[in-house]
Amino acid sequence: MSKRDYYEVLGVDRNASETDIKKAFRKLARKYHPDVNPGDKDAETKFKEINEAYEVLSDPQKRAQYDQFGHAAFGQGGGDPGFGGFGGFGGADFGGFGDIFEMFFGGGGQRRRGPVKGADLRYNLEISFEEAAFGVEKTIKVPRTEMCGKCKGSGASPGTSPKTCPKCNGAGQLQYTQSTPFGRFVQSRVCDMCHGDGKVIENPCPVCGGSGMVRKPRDINVKIPAGVDTGSRLRIAGEGEPGERGGPHGDLYVYIKVKPHKIFQREGNDIISEIKISFPQAALGDEVEVATLDGKVQLKIPEGTQSGTFFRLKGKGIPDVHGYGRGDQHVKVTVVVPTKLTDQQKKLLRDFAAAFGENPAGVEKGFFEKMKDAFMG
Ligand SMILES: [Zn+2]
Ligand SMILES: [Zn+2]
Repeated sequence: MSKRDYYEVLGVDRNASETDIKKAFRKLARKYHPDVNPGDKDAETKFKEINEAYEVLSDPQKRAQYDQFGHAAFGQGGGDPGFGGFGGFGGADFGGFGDIFEMFFGGGGQRRRGPVKGADLRYNLEISFEEAAFGVEKTIKVPRTEMCGKCKGSGASPGTSPKTCPKCNGAGQLQYTQSTPFGRFVQSRVCDMCHGDGKVIENPCPVCGGSGMVRKPRDINVKIPAGVDTGSRLRIAGEGEPGERGGPHGDLYVYIKVKPHKIFQREGNDIISEIKISFPQAALGDEVEVATLDGKVQLKIPEGTQSGTFFRLKGKGIPDVHGYGRGDQHVKVTVVVPTKLTDQQKKLLRDFAAAFGENPAGVEKGFFEKMKDAFMG
């Protein structure tokens, strides 16, 4: 089952403020709540979907991760352990929805509130073959949620401060008495004026819109060691999302992808390359120029070299990322058969064959091959 975009689920756009998201969620949750639609499976599914979307988009860290990586940010197993709670959406088990139940039914118990480490971030970085071989230093821009500098995180316009909510007097919850055939019950629900914060912002900060948080790209310097390869992962401690309630920042993980090279192929720490030589070069031997990571070197082709032979250039491969020396370069030699011969060249070849006691019959090329030769040069 492919998941719908969380913004689409809540019917808000990507730049929606936290307040807009909260409003959209409450409206939809009221409409699709199972108590309002008893036995309606569609409503139940919708309700779960809405909750899931809200759980992510209402949390600045999870929202940032979602914006960057989509649903993959919370993929099964691969994600941050902090997102482990996204598993059980099957069946009619609503056990995972502590928040919504508190919100609607005013569950009394406070959730555990200790410091929480910020979410980890992932950044995909593409580098060249040479950069991977010799290491490189790069500055990357990583969007991260930070405290709003304008209001210092309070969400209130500078010069003002959040006021104690007049509706709940700062408790964040409203008590009310309900009469039922079984008696009168005192219940509480989350205050709809302050959404449980106990404070209201009369003049929201113009920069963050009252959330106290802003998303900002940060320049981060990354030292990529020599020898990394596609799939290498660098951990930059403390450069992830900020923690909650005094918890430490999460970490930033930089995933390396190495662009393919025109000439070189990598195999572990070794490099494979290919050169083409002519039949006389292969038969008589020659010295040819070969490109390596360190520039051109001369390679001796011994007399009688067969097509497909590999020659090893010791130490011309990739430095080991853990510092255990350097790989080799393996040069594959391909002998190229000439395709366009003059009559005189053909005669020389026949004489050559005759010297070995051979007499090749020769087959004229068809029209299309001749055309192809003419076009391909
Ligand atoms: Zn209130
Ligand atoms: Zn602000």
